[in-house]
Amino acid sequence: MSSNIALVSLYGVENNGVRSIASILKARGFNTHLIFFKRWVNNDIRYPTVKEKEILLSLLKELDIEIVGFSFTSPFFKIARELTEGVKKYLSAKVVWGGMHATVRPEESLRSCDVVCRGEGEDAMVELVRALVDGSSLKGIKNIGYRQNGKSILEEMRPLISDLDTLPHQDYGSDHKYFIEGDLKAVDPLSYARELRVFASRGCPYNCSYCYNSVLRRLYKSEGYYRIRSPAKVISEIRYALGQFPNIRKIKFDDDTFVFPKEWIRLFKDAYKSSVNLPFEIMLKSESADQESLKELRFAGLKRVQVGIQTGSYQESGEFYNRELSLEKIASFARFAKEQKLEVVYDVILDNPLAKYEDQEALALFLLSLPRPFDLFLYSLTVFPETRLCEDFIKRGLIKPEEVEGEANKSFYQFRFSFSYPRSKQELFIACIISLTSKSFIPRALIAGLLKTDFLKKHPFPLKWFAILCNQIKLLHILAVMTLRQEVNFWKFREYGAPKRFLIQ
Ligand code: SF4
Repeated sequence: MSSNIALVSLYGVENNGVRSIASILKARGFNTHLIFFKRWVNNDIRYPTVKEKEILLSLLKELDIEIVGFSFTSPFFKIARELTEGVKKYLSAKVVWGGMHATVRPEESLRSCDVVCRGEGEDAMVELVRALVDGSSLKGIKNIGYRQNGKSILEEMRPLISDLDTLPHQDYGSDHKYFIEGDLKAVDPLSYARELRVFASRGCPYNCSYCYNSVLRRLYKSEGYYRIRSPAKVISEIRYALGQFPNIRKIKFDDDTFVFPKEWIRLFKDAYKSSVNLPFEIMLKSESADQESLKELRFAGLKRVQVGIQTGSYQESGEFYNRELSLEKIASFARFAKEQKLEVVYDVILDNPLAKYEDQEALALFLLSLPRPFDLFLYSLTVFPETRLCEDFIKRGLIKPEEVEGEANKSFYQFRFSFSYPRSKQELFIACIISLTSKSFIPRALIAGLLKTDFLKKHPFPLKWFAILCNQIKLLHILAVMTLRQEVNFWKFREYGAPKRFLIQ
């Protein structure tokens, strides 16, 4: 077997996992191509067309690929299955699945692919590719799963990489890269982006029940699940990426919570300011926000903070989501952010069948009490396989297995909250009120008055159209600000320029 490898990222152009694995495989001398097959667009994810599938198969053939790795999350399971069938039918390549779905559902995955690579894939993929190229046994390669005599064999998991600085830079730039969407371009799709998404850590210090981290923590059973790269390594990778993508105007740290030690922040802030100096955005659990560190980050260029509130109910947060919640701390963070002129966006989850109306009303009132302006990212609760929430919902009979992402793909059309999704009048009513809380041009007293209007609770449709109109006004304002900051181009505009993609902000 030759060492021609293609790693195919399904619907993820950032996909840091495949970029890291590609980098390591290249460094070990394997001829590795990275193919980005379509991209994620909130609430408007489309199945691949026949033409797009044909392009992928022809490209794999033309590159004489003998090992194809598909990397994807659960919503794309069925698409991966279809593409794998195509590869099996027209090529003789071995198919490896990696990413979250293959990690949490290896046996199911092995009904379609030849090998699964679970968890962190860098070292496992090097050993696997070497074994496939040499034609040697896969036995003993940790993190790998395969079939033998009709049975699935899952090798044990290797320890997590404790020092992330030992990993090379992500594979950025157009060398050996392809992007398939409509047609084929031999380009790294990040060349079109104005925002670079970066991880300074892996894992997460928390364990929310709806999140894949709750599965990975169980899988790894180890201390040291949450690891942080050094500031120097993070900055050198950003600088490397900026060299490849000169159009980038802002950095988004995708770490679920940017709560790093004070010494880390101190080293980061000066180095970032002197060698990157672009506005950046972080995510936080505001309960753990440290004001002194935030001031230092502000100095370095911090512009915007995304804060997970998720719910206004202590019961919903603790009992169902396994998240600590402190509305006082969120309010105190909000006042501080206003003083520091930081932009804030709050994440909120709706559509939890266990949420009580009174809790959602309390959430609306809480949001109304926060300093304005702020943005809201409203999410519709999505159930991912093997998470604690998934087990809980199935036990309570709230969902059937076929409604879990993988078999289902609700996130194709409603990952972020959409008004067009079917829900009860009361749920629609409270969602409209919550969406209005982030519209600073509407007086708070008016929103509070609408919340008390029983007529609208029973007949929420006029309120729905009012909420949609107000949202459009806000989106126009956001578009104008982003244009002034040179953060919009045709690529970004297409992402939001269709009615389905008019997300609540
Ligand atoms: S804080 Fe975010 S990443 Fe961490 S477990 Fe909770 S939802 Fe997952």
